[in-house]
Amino acid sequence: MQDTAAPPWPDSLWAADPGSLPAHAPLAGDRRVDLAVIGAGYAGLNAALEAAGRGAEALVLEARQPGWGASGRNGGFACLGGTLFGAAALARRFGADRAAEAHRCQRAAIDRVAANLAEYGIDAQTGPVGEVCLAHRPAAMAGLADEADFLNRAHGLGVTMLPRDALAERGLGPAGFAGGALTPVGFPLNPMAYAQGLAGAATRAGIAIHGSSPVTALIHDGGGWLLRTPGRTVRAGRVVLAMNAYADPALGGARTTLTVPSSILVTRPLTSAEEAAQNWPSRAMAYDSRRLLHYFRRLPDGRFLFGMRGGFGTDRAALGAIRSRMRRHFAALFPEWAAVETAFFWSGLVALTGRGLPFIGPVPGRPGVFAAFGFHGNGVALASEAGRGAAGLALGDALDTVPALFRQPPTRLPPGWLARPALSAMLRGAALLDGPLRRRTA
Ligand SMILES: Cc1cc2nc3c(=O)[nH]c(=O)nc-3n(C[C@H](O)[C@H](O)[C@H](O)COP(=O)(O)OP(=O)(O)OC[C@H]3O[C@@H](n4cnc5c(N)ncnc54)[C@H](O)[C@@H]3O)c2cc1C
Repeated sequence: MQDTAAPPWPDSLWAADPGSLPAHAPLAGDRRVDLAVIGAGYAGLNAALEAAGRGAEALVLEARQPGWGASGRNGGFACLGGTLFGAAALARRFGADRAAEAHRCQRAAIDRVAANLAEYGIDAQTGPVGEVCLAHRPAAMAGLADEADFLNRAHGLGVTMLPRDALAERGLGPAGFAGGALTPVGFPLNPMAYAQGLAGAATRAGIAIHGSSPVTALIHDGGGWLLRTPGRTVRAGRVVLAMNAYADPALGGARTTLTVPSSILVTRPLTSAEEAAQNWPSRAMAYDSRRLLHYFRRLPDGRFLFGMRGGFGTDRAALGAIRSRMRRHFAALFPEWAAVETAFFWSGLVALTGRGLPFIGPVPGRPGVFAAFGFHGNGVALASEAGRGAAGLALGDALDTVPALFRQPPTRLPPGWLARPALSAMLRGAALLDGPLRRRTA
């Protein structure tokens, strides 16, 4: 259960001026609607907008405020992804046709974000199109080339390989990477501006978004559902669960995700001398080829955003350990900036599923309840599309409007205390395979 007495915004660059973020009032009276959405991140807000577009009466209940979850504190990479697998691995594991269908959905998700920004007039300070994967060691170039070849053959994506020298020419080094692959889709944005823009659009479309309104119970009642929030109730014919990593498993009926932290540090704006010393003027989205990857980009005001997944727990001690580790990794990968101060550091949760695939579909055993979750740390685009998909299903769309891979009922997972040791061993194994993090030199 969420603690509504806690401060409403986690520390982050995106919420550096919390007073500028509108506060949505709690549910003040009992309501009856066609569709109730639980959670006001990208998935929930897109679900609400989809419902409004189809003329359904919808309402959003949010435990904190819109964008309080991962949607208001991510790295802002609107990119392909959302599963635990690369594109070639997805095809090997699940078959070419089903993987191609999932890929089309991931591409449509990026277009969805762009369309949302245009349609609702959201200024999300977007950056250049494309995403670069950087080889963390020379041997990783072969894997990048294979994946690029697959993406070009199977999906006509136009991925180009960048030899080491080309990185410097593009203002992506020298940072010691062995080369890279440029995927010409996706774009960076200010994630909170996107979330707030969606919330504003939903409000203008007549959707009530209630902040500080955690749903504490979801009860099947006659033909529909009764949602309890502190002191108030909502009756709804259909429900969309859009809580992702912040979900209370009791509401979904089963434990279907494991959560791990993803954390971000942001520097102060870099001077032009610092930019030149590291030769990193590029504003492109970038990440490295490690299994426990680092993701990074320059922000429009010249700051550097550096993110990393991994670690356990979100208490003070755990976050302190993650922060120190990230600082070490940052200094090793960007030695010219080793002394540049951290201006912001924050953390959030990402959700993993047992199949390594997101879920968009009807919740088994709960007629009229649909869900969208499990984006594996890549949900800026996919959660947007998933929210639309889940609302569409709730309002009568055929099940096959969602890719077959994404509508398979999620597997039940053991409780966190039982699953943690296995996950911890997996993360340690991945770090070992990634190899040591050496200080990079030009
Ligand atoms: C640090 C970090 C960096 C990331 N970087 C990227 C990136 O660069 N690119 C990318 O694609 N993805 C990234 N992600 C992942 C991405 O942010 C998420 O996949 C996406 O935001 C999920 O959106 P959502 O709407 O499903 O969930 P969320 O945005 O987490 O929203 C869920 C909401 O549900 C609410 N809620 C929970 N329980 C209840 C309840 N009982 N009643 C009412 N409300 C409830 C929560 O308060 C929360 O606001 C990152 C994640 C993190 C944590």
